[in-house]
Amino acid sequence: MANQKGGVGKTTTSVNLAAALSMHGQRVLVIDLDPQGNASTALATEHRGDVPDIYQVLVDDLPMSEIVREVPDMPGLYCAPATINLAGAEIELVSLVAREARLRRALASFDSVELDYIIIDCPPSLGLLTVNSLVAAEEVLIPIQCEYYALEGLSQLLHNIDLIKAHLNANLQVSTILLTMYDGRTRLASQVADEVRVHFRETVLDTVIPRSVRVSEAPSYGQSVMTYDPGSSGATAYMDAAREIAYRAASV
Ligand code: ADP
Ligand code: MG
Repeated sequence: MANQKGGVGKTTTSVNLAAALSMHGQRVLVIDLDPQGNASTALATEHRGDVPDIYQVLVDDLPMSEIVREVPDMPGLYCAPATINLAGAEIELVSLVAREARLRRALASFDSVELDYIIIDCPPSLGLLTVNSLVAAEEVLIPIQCEYYALEGLSQLLHNIDLIKAHLNANLQVSTILLTMYDGRTRLASQVADEVRVHFRETVLDTVIPRSVRVSEAPSYGQSVMTYDPGSSGATAYMDAAREIAYRAASV
C-alpha cells in the first residue's frame, strides 16, 4: 500500500482490506511499516514500550515470527506492529548490508503462519522503508484520495517503482488503484475519479470507498469498519473491494 502523500487512506485501506479479506476466509498479515503505528493501533496490537516490532526485524535481524501477533477476535488476521523506534530505521538502514532487501529477506524465512495475503502499510515518504516494501512486494496498491492535487506526486511514485523494477524487483507491478474518500455530493470528486480512470483504466477498482465518518471512527475502537458498523457504506465498500481484489488474484 504505497503513496508518499500522507492522509490518502493507506492505513485505513490496509487495515480494512485485510479485515475484509479475513472475513472472506483468507489468512492475512498486515505489516505496519509506518513509525506512527496507526495500523497497529487500528488492529488492536500492542506497539508501545519495548514490544518486539518490525524495527527489530529490519535492523537487528529478529525473526518475523517473534513479532507477528494474532489480531483479537479476528480469526485469520495477523499484525506485525511498528513502534516509534521505527522512526530511526530510515537512517540506521543506510549503513546496513543489503539495506533495500531487509524486509524481503525477513519474509523469505518466515513460514510460521500460512498466509494468503501480506499487506504492507507504507509510511508517507519514498525513503528506505518504502523501498524495502517495494522490493519485498509482488504488487503495489495505490490509494488515491478523490481531492484536488490527488495526482500530484503520482508520477514520482511511478518513476520510483520503475527504478525498483529495473534494478531490484523485476516482478513488481502496480496492480491496483483504489479511489478513496469519495464524496458523491461534489463534482470535484467525480472529476478526479474520471481522470484517474482515463489514465489508469482497468488498474482502477470498480469499487470506490466513500467518505464516511464510520470509517474514521472505527480505528479508535481498535476495530475495522466492518465490525464497528457492518451496515455502513464504508463497510460494504471495503468488503466489495476485497472481493474484487480476490477475484483478480484468482484470474491471473
Ligand atoms: P494515510 O495512511 O495515507 O496517511 P489514513 O488511512 O491514515 O491515510 O487516512 C487519513 C485520515 O483520513 C484518517 O484520519 C482516516 O481516519 C481518514 N479517512 C480515511 N479514509 C476515510 C474515509 N473513507 N472516510 C472518512 N475518513 C477517512
Ligand atoms: Mg498511514
